[in-house]
Amino acid sequence: MKAQETEQPDFTTHPPASRIADGLDKLAKVIRQQAWGEAWGRGLTPTQGQVLLSLIHHPEKRKTLPEIAADLCVSKVTACLTIQVLVRKKLVRKERRKRVLDKLYVKLTPKGEEAASQATQWTGLLVPIIETLPPAQQVDLHRALVRLIVTLQERKEIAVSQMCVTCSHFRANVHDNPAAPHHCELVGQPFGDGQIRLNCQEHQKTTNLIQLDRWRTAQHA
Ligand code: SF4
Repeated sequence: MKAQETEQPDFTTHPPASRIADGLDKLAKVIRQQAWGEAWGRGLTPTQGQVLLSLIHHPEKRKTLPEIAADLCVSKVTACLTIQVLVRKKLVRKERRKRVLDKLYVKLTPKGEEAASQATQWTGLLVPIIETLPPAQQVDLHRALVRLIVTLQERKEIAVSQMCVTCSHFRANVHDNPAAPHHCELVGQPFGDGQIRLNCQEHQKTTNLIQLDRWRTAQHA
């Protein structure tokens, strides 16, 4: 009887970029499953859960609607509709601050805080796994992720997130220390690629991309 032919692995036809995209897709599925297994059990959609997560990372558990839309990379209309549902579920409430009456904030309720805390537990799974990489690889991975996010922003595929490299306080490669060559003018501190923030509350969006270009160019040097 003729042995059944087995398919040989093909190492030549797929460029590394497509394999990396597959890997990121796998990770995204794991994250989504871990993060929202609990949330779905509570009758929340992923977008509703992401709004709660966005809020719980803020020190005062509150954000404006445009901030939430930018954080989730969705339109303001989608964010607004999602928030309306969360208000009805008593997971968030809307409030105006006395000194900033023109701004409407969305704030987590205690019930919403509890639901968001459940969803943040996925980091308990992912962080130790990332920590198995050597420190230099962790920095390389973070740098690559920042570059991918910036490119998505430049192509207008996602909203601008509050990252150092697009912040007016960011100064790229101004220190001799290879571990901390960058500088945040706001806090007056040096930092390295591994500490680039993805979601800084103090972020001031800049239209001058000199610092971003300098940061990117240095990686090709
Ligand atoms: S203010 Fe925040 S986003 Fe801007 S450079 Fe400083 S740490 Fe980064």
